[in-house]
Amino acid sequence: MTSLRAIASCIDGYDPDALPVEIARRVIGSLVAPVAACERVAVRASLGRVLGADVVSTTNVPASDNSAMDGYAVRGADLSAGGETVLREVGAAFAGQAFDRAVGPGECVRVMTGAVMPAGTDTVVIQEHVRVEGDRVVVPPGQQAGQNRRFAGEDLAVGQVALPAGRMMRPADLGLLASLGLAEVTVRRRPRVAFFSTGDELASVGAPLRTGEVYDSNRYTLYGMLARLGVDLIDMGVVRDDPARLERAFLDAAASADAVITSGGVSVGEADFTRELLGRLGEVLFWKIAMRPGRPMAVGRIRDAFFFGLPGNPVAVMVTFYGFVRDALLRLAGRTDDCELPVLQVPCATALRKRPGRTEFQRGVLARGADGKWSVRVTGQQGSGVLRSMSEANCFIVLEHGRGDVQAGDLVSVQLFEGLA
Ligand code: AMP
Ligand code: MG
Repeated sequence: MTSLRAIASCIDGYDPDALPVEIARRVIGSLVAPVAACERVAVRASLGRVLGADVVSTTNVPASDNSAMDGYAVRGADLSAGGETVLREVGAAFAGQAFDRAVGPGECVRVMTGAVMPAGTDTVVIQEHVRVEGDRVVVPPGQQAGQNRRFAGEDLAVGQVALPAGRMMRPADLGLLASLGLAEVTVRRRPRVAFFSTGDELASVGAPLRTGEVYDSNRYTLYGMLARLGVDLIDMGVVRDDPARLERAFLDAAASADAVITSGGVSVGEADFTRELLGRLGEVLFWKIAMRPGRPMAVGRIRDAFFFGLPGNPVAVMVTFYGFVRDALLRLAGRTDDCELPVLQVPCATALRKRPGRTEFQRGVLARGADGKWSVRVTGQQGSGVLRSMSEANCFIVLEHGRGDVQAGDLVSVQLFEGLA
């Protein structure tokens, strides 16, 4: 494996003490490779999974040319351009029940939507347009030869890639596989992600809170964000700020998971110790990222596992997860489709203070006003410990590295993290 430091130092503008967000994202992107193993699962079980191989169509969908409407299948060449055409009805074809002989000149066949086009016909005249007199069908002028006919293979042709490897299976894709008659599909193994909180001050929910303690909330927000990504979770609880216990936890996590996520213990003071420990167990880069919140972060490898050491502050955990970890885990899962959180340009309802030289992730609510127009406003207090600001938000207002103050009404980048199920 190429050393992390070697990868990182090749990137223009690399400065571990004030690393721009975009560069950190690029370095992380270059570290992560998808899990190799694949498995076969039933079509329904593939919802939300990542395809491990292209699905190539072995049949035409639809299998035959068929009628797009209820009406009469006719020979386009029979139709008179300038006046009415009188045809003789010789039978009927329904979805699932074909007309069993060829249709000759001057003849037509009653067809229902989805019926196979009878041999000899190429055009469907919808039933509302004809006049029926016994077995005579009178077609008005103005029809187009070939109209209202669906072609064999129009949805999927034999040999065509129906769904590409790297795609996450969605409801329409389940239907697409079924339309090909497939009962099973190859998906990648789900990545296994181990996570734990670090800190002597952390109390577990259900236990009484002693002076100076805080409840361990990070493991719950991390659980929620990870569960939504569809990875397999290994919750390792709380680990005290104790070198021997931390070493044990790091090694256990790396042995059982494809990725390890921790929170806390990377701020100044604590970082030196964590850096020494992780440096000994694997290869880890410590970054002060030019962002707010979420400045300190550790990224690296321990054995075969990717390691993300997130800051301890509850909001910073979420900002760094959405900013760096989410996309890395999706890549690990094998995603190659466009899966980044969407970013929109939206007017900001209020003025915002912003200092150039770092990227800020303010917590916002994107909503439609009484005038029907969309705008974004910040949720109240923006401190990095104020988890309520995340709970109320549905998006980040991303104020880019070079940007200064925002005036009310200015367009800002809004990155959605809710409402995307
Ligand atoms: P640290 O990065 O370990 O210095 O933590 C920074 C701040 O985040 C401190 O105020 C911690 O008490 C708080 N914190 C750390 N871990 C957690 C956690 N798991 N749940 C809630 N708050 C935490
Ligand atoms: Mg700590």
